[in-house]
Amino acid sequence: MSRCYRLGLIGYPLGHSRSPALHQGFLAACGLQGEYRLYEVAPGDDLRPLLTDLRLHRLHGLNVTIPHKQRVLPLLDRLTPTAQAVAAVNTLWADEEGLLWGDNTDAPGFYHDLAACFGAWARRPRHALILGAGGAARAVAFALLRGGWQVTISARRAEQAQALARHLSSAAAPAVLPWEARGQTTAALIVNATPLGMAPHTETTPWPPDTPFPPLARVYDLVYNPPETRLLRQAREAGVPAANGWGMLVAQAALAFRRWTGCTPPEPSLQD
Ligand code: NAP
Repeated sequence: MSRCYRLGLIGYPLGHSRSPALHQGFLAACGLQGEYRLYEVAPGDDLRPLLTDLRLHRLHGLNVTIPHKQRVLPLLDRLTPTAQAVAAVNTLWADEEGLLWGDNTDAPGFYHDLAACFGAWARRPRHALILGAGGAARAVAFALLRGGWQVTISARRAEQAQALARHLSSAAAPAVLPWEARGQTTAALIVNATPLGMAPHTETTPWPPDTPFPPLARVYDLVYNPPETRLLRQAREAGVPAANGWGMLVAQAALAFRRWTGCTPPEPSLQD
């Protein structure tokens, strides 16, 4: 009898999540039986019961999102090299011995989609400015550094940007730019890794209004709801090629799904 995959997502809050639709689509596309459930675990609540279910193979795979991507690390037995370098996980599973593993598929998911959106341009390493220094910025910075890019980080709390730069300095030391000076960058790629622009705060933007983008720049906004954020509108009006984070979401989900099931799903285009 074929396995019925029991998959899910741990985070809080999860009302907005598109992951169940994505993974149900993957299950159907791969001809597999299963379900993908949302497990809301508030910041102070205990993650261990769900991890025990994973260890005992009552669950076959879990994704992890805000606020648990770093909090769950001490509860795991093994990390993939990417998860170790990023120091945050979004994909969990247990091996045959019941050891709990953590991986980070945000990093390769971002890098994959950068190339999917910008083609040959993205394959030549350049200088990138990352706006924000939280969990997603860690993954993006790691992916770009590994790809040979020069990286600058700008966050409203300078100490957070400096801590991220220090953490990643074994790869190649990222620079730090004061948040107030972000509009003066000469970077070829500008990545938004803050929630600015995300619904319901759709009028906010991480890029200072009425500020030109650097010549020949590209913009990648990790936010995908709404599909055209205010940042993407600014880029479109300036004639700057730009992409939202939907493709990254799909790519990181597909990589997690392959890890759990061994099946590589065809990439759907579910965005409304
Ligand atoms: P996070 O860990 O909370 O980090 C958010 C970063 O943005 C922090 O540096 C934070 O600074 C900064 N920030 C928050 N509000 C700000 C504001 N009003 N002005 C300036 N900076 C602000 O969140 P995350 O996990 O990195 O996620 C960041 C964004 O990426 C979210 O919108 C998330 O949905 C999106 N994301 C997309 C994907 C995808 O697959 N497309 C994957 C992961 C994340 P403080 O610490 O000072 O608040």
